[in-house]
Amino acid sequence: MSWAVPEGADVKVVIIGNGTSGKSAMKMLKKLKFDVFLIDEKKVKISNRLKEKLLQNLDLLVLSPGVSIENPFVVCAKQNGVEVASELEIGARMLACDFIAVTGTNGKTTTVSLIKNLLEGENRKVYAGGNIGIAVSSFSHETEKNDKVVLEVSSFQLESTNYFKPKVAVLLNIAPDHLNRHKTMENYVQAKLKILKNQTKNDFAVINLDDEVLCGQDLSFVHSQIYYFSTKNECKGCYCKNGCIYFSDGVVSRFIMRASDIYLRGEHNLSNVLAGLLASILYGENIDSLKEKVKAFKGVSHRLEFVAEINGITFINDSKATNIASTIVAIKAMKEPTTLILGGSDKGLDYDVLFENLSPNIKNIVAVGETKEKILQSAKKFNVINVFQTKTFKEAVFLAFELSNENETVLLSPAAASFDMFANFEERGKVFVRIVREIAKIENRKIRNQKTKKVQN
Ligand code: ADP
Repeated sequence: MSWAVPEGADVKVVIIGNGTSGKSAMKMLKKLKFDVFLIDEKKVKISNRLKEKLLQNLDLLVLSPGVSIENPFVVCAKQNGVEVASELEIGARMLACDFIAVTGTNGKTTTVSLIKNLLEGENRKVYAGGNIGIAVSSFSHETEKNDKVVLEVSSFQLESTNYFKPKVAVLLNIAPDHLNRHKTMENYVQAKLKILKNQTKNDFAVINLDDEVLCGQDLSFVHSQIYYFSTKNECKGCYCKNGCIYFSDGVVSRFIMRASDIYLRGEHNLSNVLAGLLASILYGENIDSLKEKVKAFKGVSHRLEFVAEINGITFINDSKATNIASTIVAIKAMKEPTTLILGGSDKGLDYDVLFENLSPNIKNIVAVGETKEKILQSAKKFNVINVFQTKTFKEAVFLAFELSNENETVLLSPAAASFDMFANFEERGKVFVRIVREIAKIENRKIRNQKTKKVQN
């Protein structure tokens, strides 16, 4: 670990990936006087000669989240005894304060954003970073002992960590996702569990007691103090009972707030709030200060976000639902008849799980994108009949509107990534909002024309 010495002259580092993480790592390591070389593996094909040259005397290889550990250059570096670490890891090593880290298949950004709000206070700086879009290495070397830090960490980032050690590690849930990269569910689960690996007895693990996959894991390797959160059962940690949220230290339970005071829809968001509250309490926050902050938290864009109501039809943008589990919870959060817009780029997920127990309030499904055929096949297997296909995303939104009546909802919750038609899920969500606005304009024009006709008659 020679490179851990901050003034790092003579330490040779190669970074792969020219995105936000790679560039931030480069800037940070250069400031610390490391000898850094950045490769954009999407643009540059690395020749064997360059590979050999780079590997000579190399101390550290830093990976951006998009770079797999199976990348041939990474494999080669490992074979040559070079330390390989994710940008998350090198960024976190430069933090001057303890930090909370949150992982899970779904709910990370929502929970991290909530925790950031819960930690805000006078005379302190609060940072949220990691997978949330702000690289840890863009701020970690500027932190001070009393600052508060919460990190969103993905399985891709955890995969290549060795020393990552959060004060509070939160595991929200585990459901099939990213299997095209991790290959097996087992690899995916193991990558997630790495968040707990280096914790010691003064640290805390926050685990979702309601999650079957998580509760089925052997956690005997964990050295930290384990606390739980549950929407269903009393436990040591945070739980909900008869509509009230409590914290228990294992001996005494304290009332925190009513669940009905949470603005966000759905049981899954109650679960996120319990996780956020528990993590903040274990990180040292005063329970009394938390209730008002939870009440004020309105959620994050593209996650079950209300867009508009047109002719009594509500439009909801859940573009961030990029896997089956997140779409299932979105459906559960809908109480009214709903037309669901589904489909996008294929991540190797199985749509049967979605159709097996499809809630009866899903009136229609409009399938679009690369996975639309897969969706249709799964629907057929389970005799779900009201499934329509469209060529374009715009047609899908218009059709969903036409299929809906007053007091119903159109829900965009694709259970797929967005890269077949969009740059990312944010763009998909923004395009959805734009099309909804277009529909609103058309409908308003119709109403105006009708009024004009009436006046003329
Ligand atoms: P992540 O950062 O893990 O992708 P987000 O907070 O961005 O999580 O939410 C992603 C999607 O998952 C959204 O569609 C959201 O509605 C859904 N979601 C949020 N929290 C949960 C949860 N606890 N369990 C399942 N799905 C969730």
